[in-house]
Amino acid sequence: MRKTYDCVVVGAGCWGAWTALRLRERGRRVALVEAWGAGHARSSSGGASRIIRMGYGADEIYTRWAMRSLADWQRLFEQAGQPELFQRTGVLWTARAGHAHIAGTRAVFDRAGVSYQALAAEEVRQRYPQIRFAGEVTGIVEPESGALLASRAVRAVAAEAAQLGVEAVTGRVLPPERGERLEWVETENGDKVAGGAFVFACGPWLPKLFPRLLGDGIEVTRQEVFYFAAPAGDLRFAQPAMPVWIDFSDERGGYALPPLAGKGFKLALDRHGPRFDPDAGGREASAGELAAARAFLRERFPEMAEAPLLEAEVCQYGNTANGDFVIGRHPEMENVWIAGGGSGHGFKH
Ligand SMILES: Cc1cc2nc3c(=O)[nH]c(=O)nc-3n(C[C@H](O)[C@H](O)[C@H](O)COP(=O)(O)OP(=O)(O)OC[C@H]3O[C@@H](n4cnc5c(N)ncnc54)[C@H](O)[C@@H]3O)c2cc1C
Repeated sequence: MRKTYDCVVVGAGCWGAWTALRLRERGRRVALVEAWGAGHARSSSGGASRIIRMGYGADEIYTRWAMRSLADWQRLFEQAGQPELFQRTGVLWTARAGHAHIAGTRAVFDRAGVSYQALAAEEVRQRYPQIRFAGEVTGIVEPESGALLASRAVRAVAAEAAQLGVEAVTGRVLPPERGERLEWVETENGDKVAGGAFVFACGPWLPKLFPRLLGDGIEVTRQEVFYFAAPAGDLRFAQPAMPVWIDFSDERGGYALPPLAGKGFKLALDRHGPRFDPDAGGREASAGELAAARAFLRERFPEMAEAPLLEAEVCQYGNTANGDFVIGRHPEMENVWIAGGGSGHGFKH
């Protein structure tokens, strides 16, 4: 049986779930087709938490989007009766004095009206004694920012969409045939879902669906995050003493989150890992990345140097060449839209 919708959204990660919800709110009949379930463990939107921050250096468009998005996330969580899906931990940025990112961020914050505090090196040290910074670093604190509880947040969006009448379809969509218009998508088990317009929000799977168009445009990389056990009863590593921390003081790109929703102290390095296949790639943490994370932990949080590892997650970034997103109409199929290339920062938006 083939059903017809105004819009068919393929992929119920963060981007697809929000797209389906927004289309439904505008009165469209919408199907949301997903292979494994909203916010599932292998998706880029899976896992426990994602940072939501406003600071983007001079890239003002992302600051503006993050501001709008945080308000939307919070509204949705209130409606869903789950306000805890946003944790207002505050976000601390640190970098060596004169770093362009800090100056650019402050200029944009002043223009956009983002509340923040600028901390001199001495203030950073005094306020966050649990962190051993790399020499003299200055800081920016975003007191209103924090973390979203990732896979649960996506499920909340999908649930809201379903409640408003978005039809959830389970199945893996085959790469669409070529042509000027797409009439339907077909799943691996033979179901056809027809529509007037199609949005493919398939995250790191987009190159598999559109190999000619995106095979070279989105590079999928393996990313590992680690959860360590903070010392019992030690409040320095938990909220409110410990905010989300993003470090720009060396090329490792270390970041840390206080324990949230029963998880451990999260630590990861924001640099691109090796190429990764989201279907076949193994999800065990590698000894090399764990050693690198442990080294960062030892340097920056010496009191946690030997903290037991509680768990690890292996996820993937879908990177574009410059980190900007891919959002647009397919160049050949006029009723097909593509949205992805989150490049390691797409959740919050
Ligand atoms: C370790 C890590 C840390 C990150 N940290 C942050 C952060 O702190 N802040 C931030 O803003 N961003 C962060 N990101 C990036 C952010 O999580 C992603 O940009 C975002 O989740 C991408 O969402 P998406 O909906 O595009 O993709 P996905 O969540 O991967 O969703 C795509 C969906 O499409 C489905 N799908 C794929 N192919 C098909 C098909 N053929 N048929 C049907 N369904 C299909 C998949 O099953 C999947 O559910 C991080 C990412 C990782 C991996």
